[in-house]
Order: sequence, then C-alpha cells, then structure tokens
Amino acid sequence: MKQIYKDVLIVGAGVAGLHTALSLDDDIDVLVLAKDYAWECNTFYAQGGIAVAVDEEDIPYHIKDTLSAGAGLCDEGAVDILCHEGPVVIKEFIKKGFEFDKDRYGNLLYTKEAAHSRSRILHAGGDATGRYVHQFLMDMLKFPILYNTQVTDLLIHNGVCYGVRVFHNNEIFNIYSKKIVIASGGVGSVYEYHTNARTISSDMQGICVMHGISLRDMEMMQFHPTVFVESGAVRKQLLSESLRGEGAKVVDDEGRRFLFDYDDRGELSPRNIVSQAIFDYRLRTKKRVFLDLSNFEEGFFMKRFPSIYFNMGNIGYNLPIDLVPISPAFHYAMGGIKSDLFGRVESVDSLYVVGEAANTRVHGANRLASNSLLEGLVFSKRVALDIKLTLKNKKDIVLFDEVEPSLIKQVDKELKNELRNLMWNYAGIKRDEKNLQKALNRVEEMLKLPIGKLLRLRLLSSREIIKSALKRKVSLGAHYIVKGDGV
Ligand SMILES: Cc1cc2nc3c(=O)[nH]c(=O)nc-3n(C[C@H](O)[C@H](O)[C@H](O)COP(=O)(O)OP(=O)(O)OC[C@H]3O[C@@H](n4cnc5c(N)ncnc54)[C@H](O)[C@@H]3O)c2cc1C
Repeated sequence: MKQIYKDVLIVGAGVAGLHTALSLDDDIDVLVLAKDYAWECNTFYAQGGIAVAVDEEDIPYHIKDTLSAGAGLCDEGAVDILCHEGPVVIKEFIKKGFEFDKDRYGNLLYTKEAAHSRSRILHAGGDATGRYVHQFLMDMLKFPILYNTQVTDLLIHNGVCYGVRVFHNNEIFNIYSKKIVIASGGVGSVYEYHTNARTISSDMQGICVMHGISLRDMEMMQFHPTVFVESGAVRKQLLSESLRGEGAKVVDDEGRRFLFDYDDRGELSPRNIVSQAIFDYRLRTKKRVFLDLSNFEEGFFMKRFPSIYFNMGNIGYNLPIDLVPISPAFHYAMGGIKSDLFGRVESVDSLYVVGEAANTRVHGANRLASNSLLEGLVFSKRVALDIKLTLKNKKDIVLFDEVEPSLIKQVDKELKNELRNLMWNYAGIKRDEKNLQKALNRVEEMLKLPIGKLLRLRLLSSREIIKSALKRKVSLGAHYIVKGDGV
C-alpha cells in the first residue's frame, strides 16, 4: 500500500490546475494529477483567445458584455472580479514571458468575437492560443505531475476532505493532502457531439453528487455553432468564433445567409442564437449548413488560422476556398460544482474547485466567448491565495480504505453510447419536458444496472443536467425550451 502525503493536490493539468500551481510558493509540496497526457485537456485545444479589457475604460464594457451574455444569471461580484483582475493577471503573464500575437510595430493584436462590443481577444500562435498557454504553463511548472492518473473518489469524512483515491498503473491507492483542488474541467463526453478533449467526462462532478456536494446551474450547457461533426473522431473539429468575427459567413446549400432571419446581427449574434438558429433551420428545411470562408485571402488565412488550416487540410478541405459543412456541438459547461469566489466548495473543508469544473456564476446562463481561459487564470490565483493563508491551520490525519468497486464493466460501452445519444437528443440545444422526462427515466434505469463506477459517475452528472433542465420552465441562455412534444 502506497501512502502519499502532500500539502496541495491539484486534480487536473489544464489552465486552472497549472495556474493554481504556478501561483503557489515554491516551498509548498504540490502534486498535480492528470488523467492522461498533460495536453489532453480543453485548454490545449482552445483556439480563439483570451478576452480581456483593452484599457481601464474598457472594463465596464467587458463587464456589461459578460452580464448581457449571461442573461441575468451571472453573479455580479464574480464578473467584477473577472473583468477587473483579468488585466492584472494578463500583465503578469506577459511579464513572465508569455507572448501574445503582435503587429509589426510590437502592439498587441486584439480580435473580435461574437457578443463582444469591441475587439478585446488576445491570441497566440494565430488560432493556437490554448496550445501556447498550456506549453508556457508546463514550462513554468515547478512541481511534479502524475500522469495517467484518474481520480475515482474524494476522501471525505465529517465534512472535511483528506485527499483522493486514484487509479494509476492498474493500481488503486489513496493520496492524502492538506488541500485538494478540483481543476478537472467540464462534461464534454456525456454528449454525442462535442469539441472537448477525451479526458473531459464529468468524473469529479459525479463524485461530488455521490458525496452530496451541490452542483449548480447544470442545465446551463453551451453549444458551439460552428463545428465540423462529419468525422469519426470523438472530439469534433471546432471552427473558431473568430472566423465569424473576422468575416466568415454562415450559408445554406443555396448560399443564403439565413441567420438574418433570426437576428439582425447575423453571424455576429451571440453563440447561443447562432447555434439555435442553425439547429432550427436544419430541422425545418432539411438543408445543409456551411461556413463560407471566401472573404479570407489564402496567405492571410494560413497565417492567422494555421491550426484550422492544417487540421481541415488533413481531412481533405482546402481552406479558405472550400465550404465547410457545420453543425452545433456541445462545447462548454457553465454549470458545475458550486463554489464561492475563492473556489471554496460549500460544505466541505479543505476542498476547492476552479476552472470549467467550478460554478461561481461568472458566466451565468451563457459564457461570453473567450472568457473561460481568463476565468482559469483569475480564479486560480484566488484559490492559491486562500490556500496560502490557511495551509498552516491544524488538520488531523484520517486514513481511508483503498477499496474501489469495479471501475469498468463489459456492458458499459453500449450504455455509454446510449447515454451520449440521449443527452444530445433530449438534453441538448432544444429541450421539452416530455423528452427530458424520458431521458431521466432511462438514466435512472441505467443507474440500477450492474455497471462500472466510471459510467455511474457520468450518469450521476447527466442526471443533474436533466433534473435541472426539467426545473427550468422558460428558455434562458444557451438552450431553448419548446412546449408540448417539441418535435
Ligand atoms: C475546442 C475548444 C476551443 C476553446 N476555445 C477557447 C478560447 O478560445 N478561449 C477561451 O477562453 N476558452 C476556450 N475554450 C474553453 C476553455 O478551453 C476551457 O473552458 C478551459 O481550458 C478549461 O480549463 P480547465 O483547466 O478548467 O480544464 P481542462 O483544460 O479541460 O483540464 C482538465 C484537466 O483535468 C484532468 N482530469 C479530468 N478528470 C480527471 C480525473 N477524474 N482524474 C484526474 N484528472 C482528471 C484532465 O486530464 C485535464 O488535465 C475552448 C474549449 C474547447 C474544447
């Protein structure tokens, strides 16, 4: 039996986890856990950039745009923190050596994305911001990472978290720690079509449900409007929001820009409106929908969007010349593990949550484009600050057994696919009570079957999404509710 004791244990090696580590002092004993390779996280795949107020005068506008996208569900205090502390964190990031894209005079280049009232998105490597941010954080990391390590439980006794149970190298063992930070990202894999890394499967959200820890706003799931889903890959290829910000058009198979039927802002409408419009238009007309990139000059496109150019080229698309068939797909979880503005998880001492796994209500009912990398940077610093202030507090050692029920069973694969299909069709963009109830009944049935624990965790998270969706009677933010059968 291995027994590992740490000061701080961070579950997840994306922007939220790595930046928490970076914000802790060197003499603290920290261990970071990653379920797979370090780069298999949503941070690595982020394309568009990081939203940040361009100057002091822009802060109130960044706040206004964030609140407006959030459709009345944001916590104003959280948004205030994001938009005020954002520029400070970005300045520190640049000071540490991070290089955002600049023009030939050395000025930072800002791009525009939907629902931002001005150009305030910083980017790096063209459309490879996430990869650059991740690489930079990995280079700066002073603490070890334990790879291929999946957390399967939290060690909680009498309202205090003492560590985690993990599966690593075919072994189950416990890792004990004074402070535990959940930075494990969102819920992508519970949906059939999604843009997320394969490691993002809502394990920690499910574990929290098992322990009676509150999740909040779980019906608030965001769907990205422009995703190439016609490939066999699990993670579908995203076509960044900034393409539309810089002039790409959404057309049907006759070249008609039908988005104006739905909103005067056309391609620059918020992403929920564009997603819902595309979803609805395809359903009603049975037409295919495409992204038309013909406004871009080829040389510029290759330089500005190298990853999209390369990835789509690999599957036979000659960009920006070819039209790309698109569909909405699940993209981001606004809902998550309920926390306060220092990432503290309600009702469990020593446990924190940050990044996409967390729900501080900073995004409300709909995340403003490119606000999540900023959230990861800003709120991780606050988590680190609280840890530094309280790390010396006395904490007993409590030991737990190292027994875990079977993680995977043979029936799981088929049920997992059924769940993904159920979630996409009944708890996706378009929802109605009858189908949500149908999905809930089926999830409850599956939970009674002799399944592996990892599937059980996905089912518990999915059940929270469905139950929250059933409670919401009026459409808000990223999805839309139809009355009656909804067909
Ligand atoms: C394709 C794509 C493009 C995007 N573009 C942008 C953008 O341009 N701008 C923007 O602001 N946002 C963007 N986003 C959203 C943003 O990337 C994510 O919200 C953000 O990176 C989440 O960071 P995180 O650190 O919370 O989680 P992640 O980066 O997803 O990291 C999660 C980590 O947790 C680990 N983990 C998960 N479960 C377990 C477990 N059970 N045990 C151990 N480890 C576990 C994973 O291995 C991983 O290391 C994009 C997202 C996607 C998918």
